[in-house]
Amino acid sequence: MTYPEEKPTILIVGAGIGGITSATHLVRTGYRVKVFEKNEKPGGRCGQMIIQNYRFDTGATLFLMPELYAETYAALGERMEDYLDLHRIDPTYHLFFQDNSQLQLTSDMHEMMAQVEAIEPGSYEGLLHYLGEGGRLYKLSLPNLICRDFRSLTQFINPRMILLFLRLKSLTRHDRYAKRFFKTSKLQMAFTFQDMYMGLSPYESPATYSLMQYTELSAGLYYPMGGMYRIVETLTAITEKLGVVFMYNCPVKKILTEGGHATGLELSDGQIVSGDIVVANADLGYVYRSLLPDDGTAARIDHKEYGCSTVMFYWGLDKEFPQLGLHNLFFCGDYRKGFEDIFTNTTMPEQPNFYIHAPARLDPSASPNGGDSLYAAVPVGHINDKLHQNWPEIQKRARAFMIQRLARVGITDLEEHIKVDFSFGPEDWQNRYNLTRGSAHGLSHKLTQMGYFRPHNRHKTYHNLYFVGASTHPGTGVPTVLVSARLTAQRILDDTAWER
Ligand SMILES: Cc1cc2nc3c(=O)[nH]c(=O)nc-3n(C[C@H](O)[C@H](O)[C@H](O)COP(=O)(O)OP(=O)(O)OC[C@H]3O[C@@H](n4cnc5c(N)ncnc54)[C@H](O)[C@@H]3O)c2cc1C
Repeated sequence: MTYPEEKPTILIVGAGIGGITSATHLVRTGYRVKVFEKNEKPGGRCGQMIIQNYRFDTGATLFLMPELYAETYAALGERMEDYLDLHRIDPTYHLFFQDNSQLQLTSDMHEMMAQVEAIEPGSYEGLLHYLGEGGRLYKLSLPNLICRDFRSLTQFINPRMILLFLRLKSLTRHDRYAKRFFKTSKLQMAFTFQDMYMGLSPYESPATYSLMQYTELSAGLYYPMGGMYRIVETLTAITEKLGVVFMYNCPVKKILTEGGHATGLELSDGQIVSGDIVVANADLGYVYRSLLPDDGTAARIDHKEYGCSTVMFYWGLDKEFPQLGLHNLFFCGDYRKGFEDIFTNTTMPEQPNFYIHAPARLDPSASPNGGDSLYAAVPVGHINDKLHQNWPEIQKRARAFMIQRLARVGITDLEEHIKVDFSFGPEDWQNRYNLTRGSAHGLSHKLTQMGYFRPHNRHKTYHNLYFVGASTHPGTGVPTVLVSARLTAQRILDDTAWER
C-alpha cells in the first residue's frame, strides 16, 4: 500500500507557463509537486502588472492556436470555456505603413480583397494561395514536428522526416517565399512580420513560418477578457486545487546533484529541499550556466543563436485614442535593414518597427475611467557583451521615435495624457526572469536549433532532471510552451512507468 507521504516528489524551478502546466499534468498522475518561483507571482513572460488601476499584460498579448489551449484545459479535466471568456479579434491587426497608408488584416475575405487589390492589383489570388499553403504547412507541422517528442537523432533525421522538411519548405527562406505571392514590399511585409513572434527575421527564417498568417486569419486571433494573464490565473488555480504547492519570492540557487542524479534544490536562503525529480522551467541557458555543475554544456548553449529582445513601454492614459485598434503594427524605415540591425548588429534600428496593444478597445477593465492602457514594444537586438550597448539611451530613442511616429497618425498629445509611465528593457528581462542575453524568446528557432537539435527536455547525465519552456522543444510562444509541458510530463511518465 502506498501512503501519500511516500509519493515521489517533483520539484519545479520557475512558475512560468511551462512550470505551471507541467506541474498540473504531473500532480494528476500521483506525484507530489512543489514549484519554486523567484518572483512574487506566477506567469513569467506571460506576466501582468497593475499600476494605479491600469492593467497591463507585460509579455504575451496574442492568443493564437486556441486548440492547443483547449487541449491543455481538457487534459486537466476542465473545459477552457469555463475559465476563459474568449473574444475573436477581427481585424486582427491594424498595419500602418511608412507612407501612413493602412491595411487592416481581417478574416473577412471580401474586405481583404478590396484592401490588397488596392495596394497591389492582382494580389488577392496570391493571398488565397499563400493562406491555403499556410494551412497545409500548419496541419502538417503540428502533429509531425511541433507536438512530437524527438528522443533520438534517427527519429528526427530519416527519409520520412527529410521529405517532411521539404514539404514544410524548411529550406526556403521566408522573405523569398513571400515574393512568389506578393510583388509589393507592403504585402511582403504584411505577411512576414509575424516571424518576430518566434524572435526571428524573415530574411533568415524558413518559409514554414508562413503558417502563422494562416493561424491568425483562419483559426483566429483571440483575446481573453481580463487579459492574457487570465491563462496564468486559471491554470494556477486549477493546479493549486489539485494540491501543487507554489512558493513565491523563492529563488533557487543550485540544482543539487550526486553521481548521475539530481537530488534536490538549494534555495537562495540556504535551505535544502530534497526531491526525486527536478523540472527546470527557468530559461535553459541560465539553468546550465548558473544552477548546474559546469560540464561544458553551458558554453555550448551560449554559442547558440538567441532571438531578439524588446524595449517595452507601459503607458496608462487618461484618454483613449481611436486611431489605434487592439493590435497595431507600425512599419518604419527599411524593412530588411531593420532586421539586420536587430539580428546581426544586435542593436535598435534607426527607425524601428513597433507594436502597440490597446486592450481597453475591447476590455474596459484594463483601464480606469475611459482611459487607455497601452503596451508598446520595440524589437531590438539581445544583450551582446562584445558591444557597448547603452540601453537607457536606446530606450530614450525608442520612446522619442514612437511619439513622433504616432503624431503622424494624429496622436499628437500622447505625452500630455500619460499618467502611468513604466519601461522595461533587455537588462530588465535578464534580471527579472533570468533570461539569457535578455532574449524575449530564448533560443532562436532556425532549422539547426529545432526538434532533436534543440537542447533536449531531459538532461543527458542526470536522467531525473528535465527541462520545460521556451528554449526547449518545441519552442517559444504560450501555446508552444503548453506543448513543451505536455511532452516533458509524458517523458517523465514514460521514464518512471516501471516505478509506478
Ligand atoms: C515581450 C514578449 C511578448 C510575447 N508575446 C507573445 C504573444 O503575444 N503570444 C504568445 O503566445 N507568446 C508570446 N511571448 C512568448 C511567451 O510569453 C513565452 O514563450 C512564454 O511565456 C515562456 O514561458 P516559459 O514557461 O518558457 O518561461 P518563463 O515565462 O520565462 O518562466 C520561467 C520562470 O522561471 C522563473 N525563474 C527564473 N530563474 C529562477 C530561479 N533561479 N528560481 C526560481 N524561479 C526562477 C522566472 O521568474 C519565470 O517566472 C512573448 C514574450 C515576450 C517576452
